[in-house]
Amino acid sequence: MSEKKRIGVMGGTFDPIHHGHLVAASEVVSLFHLDEVVFVPTGQPWQKEDRKVSAAEDRYLMTVIATASNPQFSVSRSDIDRGGLTYTIDTLRDLRAEHPDAELFFITGADALSQILSWRHAEELFALAHFIGVTRPGHTLSDPGLPEGGVSLVEVPALAISSTDCRQRVAKGDPVWYLVPDGVVRYIDKRALYRHETG
Ligand code: ATP
Ligand code: MG
Repeated sequence: MSEKKRIGVMGGTFDPIHHGHLVAASEVVSLFHLDEVVFVPTGQPWQKEDRKVSAAEDRYLMTVIATASNPQFSVSRSDIDRGGLTYTIDTLRDLRAEHPDAELFFITGADALSQILSWRHAEELFALAHFIGVTRPGHTLSDPGLPEGGVSLVEVPALAISSTDCRQRVAKGDPVWYLVPDGVVRYIDKRALYRHETG
């Protein structure tokens, strides 16, 4: 019998995707001997919460551009095509249905992990996937009281990059070269994204 495929899942708004996301995924592939990582850009919120999120298609394409050269990385449209707000439970159910025999590893930064208990259907989440919390500069990585064995905390190379900071830099006319992949810099420019970002 062949071994189960080990698939990482990296959810995010990816507005834009940056090297912090890519380094975290790459490090987890290596530490956990994953076969691949699927990046899953979130759906478009029905109404804006504190800011307007860029169009799903732009976020999807930037994620494709950023991951295209890595044979172990791919991008799923599942959350985007479902539409509306994304709940991790739906992401994991879809991926489970697509890969019934795989082991799923949900990768999340320290900031997102700390909100995990407020996520919908917390118990089912841990039945569907093993959770991997990764370090992120400016955030404390701690187990927020997840079920025994349900989460691993790992250190990844520290990149103090956030999408918020990238958007604000573009709005101010500051460079984002080397914070995001070259193709993403060019895509942001081509589509005139983030030029009027506030706050
Ligand atoms: P925003 O500032 O818009 O919230 P972000 O940089 O936090 O953007 P997200 O798309 O919200 O990016 O993050 C997706 C996932 O990647 C989350 O689990 C987040 O914790 C993780 N992540 C983002 N940036 C880093 C980083 N620099 N190092 C480690 N993990 C990160
Ligand atoms: Mg974030």
